[in-house]
Amino acid sequence: MEPDPKVTMEEITALAKRRGFIFQSSEIYGGLNGFWDYGPLGAILKRNVKNAWWRDTVELRDDVVAFDSSIIMHPSAWKASGHVDEFHDVMVDCKVCKHRFRLDQLKDRSQCPDCGSKDSFTEPRNFSLMMRTSIGPMEDSASLAYLRPETAQGIFVNFKNVYQTARKKPPFGIAQIGKSFRNEITPGNFTYRSREFEQAELEYFVPNDGNDEAQFQQWVSRRKAWYANYGIRADRLRFYELKAAERPHYAKAGIDVEYLFPWGWGELESIAHRGTYDLDAHMKLSGKDLRFFDEASKTHYTPLLIECSAGMDRTTLTFLVDAYEREISTDPNGKQTDRVVLRFHHAIAPVQVAVFSLARNKPEMVQLARSIESDLRGTYRAQYDEGNIGQLYRRQDEIGTPFCITVDYPSLEYGTVTVRERDSMTQERVGRDALAGYLKERM
Ligand SMILES: [Zn+2]
Repeated sequence: MEPDPKVTMEEITALAKRRGFIFQSSEIYGGLNGFWDYGPLGAILKRNVKNAWWRDTVELRDDVVAFDSSIIMHPSAWKASGHVDEFHDVMVDCKVCKHRFRLDQLKDRSQCPDCGSKDSFTEPRNFSLMMRTSIGPMEDSASLAYLRPETAQGIFVNFKNVYQTARKKPPFGIAQIGKSFRNEITPGNFTYRSREFEQAELEYFVPNDGNDEAQFQQWVSRRKAWYANYGIRADRLRFYELKAAERPHYAKAGIDVEYLFPWGWGELESIAHRGTYDLDAHMKLSGKDLRFFDEASKTHYTPLLIECSAGMDRTTLTFLVDAYEREISTDPNGKQTDRVVLRFHHAIAPVQVAVFSLARNKPEMVQLARSIESDLRGTYRAQYDEGNIGQLYRRQDEIGTPFCITVDYPSLEYGTVTVRERDSMTQERVGRDALAGYLKERM
């Protein structure tokens, strides 16, 4: 078996559509650029990715609490955060074909890449990435509101509510997963740069006691371990340390987590030491005191912030790309066959166990297979199917199912089934009573 390294985005996109992972939004109307829908398997895949993040970042920690803030916030929140004034891309329009480009993405600033016109660009202008909406029946400046471009601000404005009600003191974190919106000028690379996307953000507040940089490093290590634990290939992942000139002026340290996609390196997550910048900004504009009150020393202080902000659609795409392999193998007769397989970690795989009946028209065989599937469903994401065994394996390989169980003629006689493992394609006969233990040991 030789894995083929030349995986293209066309293959990934085609598989995602063919097997029901990801569809274009509003496809019957020609689609909407920068928006995507997750199909039956994609919805589970993305949920598994989010659950894996939530489990490790929130559930397994006693120093992180859960949060879920509204998508639309008071417009002042975006004024304080700097998004209203500073969150924009510099863009130019081609005067001939009217297409719009990000200045920093133009290879040649004198020629339009779409229509080829020379010196056809307008002067550079700022283009806000904030999605606007209006609240209530009047559409005027008083009703103007924004769809959040990040989930973090909902956490900052609630810092005091949370630490008081959760009875936490720094170091502690507040985490949430939710939708964000950015009016990207040029969405692209499948779901990578979308206008509507989901973020998983952890805001970890630490005391200003000299341990903040060590705390930052610990989060970098934890995030490294997370990607490794769920099987992301180490040689396609890098933690790029931002130089001082690449960071905002208030940030003490910053790491971009990047994955090597078929088109090159792309950012998945940013880990940043943001100092007191965010709480300070909201205190200044709201006039409210958001400092932490330390009961022991009876003093107020503003905690420092370490932020881990990951894109869940990007991470889902990463799992899909990373798991994808096209293999060419030679069977014992010398015949070459190829298969596409998604080598998902079992916690990420949308289906964990598929149970087949070898024959459709044998009621006792179908019944046995269905009853095995039904038994496993309480513990695993299980699926029943029937028909041509080669086609069934092919389908399950393409959706990344780690184990397939086949009920056949010997099953009816001896009570054993065939268990086939996805990666090695090895098959073993296992007694029905031993199935639960067999799978538990391997997942
Ligand atoms: Zn043009």
